[in-house]
Amino acid sequence: MEQPPLDPQRLDRGECNVCGYIYEPVDGDKARGIAAGTPFEAVPETWRCPSCNSPRVRFSRIGPRAGAQEGLEENVKFGLGVNTLNPQVKNLLIFGALGVGLLFLMSFYFVGQ
Ligand SMILES: [Zn+2]
Repeated sequence: MEQPPLDPQRLDRGECNVCGYIYEPVDGDKARGIAAGTPFEAVPETWRCPSCNSPRVRFSRIGPRAGAQEGLEENVKFGLGVNTLNPQVKNLLIFGALGVGLLFLMSFYFVGQ
């Protein structure tokens, strides 16, 4: 199984209060050993601002990137199973099953004659 793609809208970022540098969790900080995909809260205390070398405590958590498409991920999750069928296909299945059941009953009727 492959790792699910990183969702930049779900990872907390950190902003340097000194110089305004924004730690992007999607990119991490490879030069300082922070793997891409590390949320800001998981960045070690020893980490420093790559721009002005301020300690991590000078950063504020500013949350995930703005403009997240709310609800998109939920829709994808609920899209598993029966809900992936569009209403037309669902109706077709329901009425198809009814029709087959009706034919089945009618065949008994004719056999009984
Ligand atoms: Zn800084």
